Amino acid sequence: MDLIQNSDHDDLRAGVREVVERFDGAYWRGLEPDRYPEEFVAALTDAGFLGALVPEEYGGGGATLTEASVILEEISASGGNPSACHAQMYIMGTLLRHGSEEQKQRYLPGIADGSLRLQAFGVTEPTAGSETTRIRTRAERVPEGWRINGQKIWTSRALYSDLMILLARTTPFDEVEKKSDGISAFIFDMRDLPGLTINPIPTMMNHNTTEVFFDDVVIPADALIGDEGNGFRYILDGMNAERILIAAECIGDGRFVLERAVDYANGREVFGKPLGANQGVQFPLSRAYAQLCAANLVRFEAAAKFDAGEKCAAEANMAKFLASEASWAAANAALDAHGGFGFAVEYDIERKFRETRLYQVAPINNNLVLAYLGQHVLGLPKSY
Ligand SMILES: Cc1cc2nc3c(=O)[nH]c(=O)nc-3n(C[C@H](O)[C@H](O)[C@H](O)COP(=O)(O)OP(=O)(O)OC[C@H]3O[C@@H](n4cnc5c(N)ncnc54)[C@H](O)[C@@H]3O)c2cc1C
Repeated sequence: MDLIQNSDHDDLRAGVREVVERFDGAYWRGLEPDRYPEEFVAALTDAGFLGALVPEEYGGGGATLTEASVILEEISASGGNPSACHAQMYIMGTLLRHGSEEQKQRYLPGIADGSLRLQAFGVTEPTAGSETTRIRTRAERVPEGWRINGQKIWTSRALYSDLMILLARTTPFDEVEKKSDGISAFIFDMRDLPGLTINPIPTMMNHNTTEVFFDDVVIPADALIGDEGNGFRYILDGMNAERILIAAECIGDGRFVLERAVDYANGREVFGKPLGANQGVQFPLSRAYAQLCAANLVRFEAAAKFDAGEKCAAEANMAKFLASEASWAAANAALDAHGGFGFAVEYDIERKFRETRLYQVAPINNNLVLAYLGQHVLGLPKSY
């Protein structure tokens, strides 16, 4: 079914499909509850898709964000889960835009050829989620470099990453004028670091997420990205990319569940007619389709603005909001359309239902997206 695709990027879509078709529902189901899809990530890397956003001069694909979003969409639309590798695409911007030339030379060629994975992004802490500026993890200058103490939570893929981008306070909250000051960003090799402990967190979908403890962990002085104290701004810069890419994943999720639901509703007969002939089954699917199509337009508009270097925060936020709501509506309607079989693991509907639900809460919850729109787009007072 040709569902809400625009005809651009046909070759790219076909190339991604060629790789992802090797990983069917049985593969993804077999990974649950928490196995990392090593084979899938290796295949994606070999095909050059994981290093797509690395500029060509560092050995990468030099792709636009629009193209990167198409790659993630196609993975989701195939029934796969790009969460195993999406962070590499959206956190790389911090390194690309604010890293030193020396840091780029050191890391980007390895990320491009797959010998280095940049998959761990340590921002959230047990007492600081939406309110990032409340992070307490400290980085202090010592003769050997930076000494890190503190705890991160929900650091996804930390057990499967070579590198981490970490946000830590270099000046305590109480000592800064602006609460976003005094936070610094670091990139470092997280393998075999004394004092670093990583524990998996079991979750309702396979996300390989963890909690990370820093107990007098020393990282090199040149791990600092850009200027000390400016890390919060560097990370914020990357948020638009993250939102657009997550929106694309949701569009892919929505395509997958809708295609499955339509096939099922056309094929199964109840009370002497196809299931889908009932408006109670058909209309929620139609509604979700309309929502997905609308979200998809905003997603491409946001991505085009991003690629043109234009301001796109409003569009990126709206794309993430609309797409995550639409994919959830689609998953919910697909579950209903499948009746009891929607709950059977082998249909992959309940898995996608769980996977796509995450994106209303993380990487940023939709309430904060609405707060952004209210305050910065509509000009309403700050609501928090
Ligand atoms: C599976 C998973 C993977 C993740 N991966 C990563 C990762 O790799 N790296 C990382 O750093 N973090 C990661 N996160 C963390 C994620 O970014 C946070 O969970 C998210 O930002 C919300 O923070 P919180 O959980 O502390 O919720 P809180 O900030 O405690 O908020 C709880 C709820 O309250 C509501 N809320 C909060 N503030 C407001 C407000 N001002 N107005 C209205 N409503 C509000 C929201 O609806 C929110 O869902 C992940 C989380 C999950 C679940």
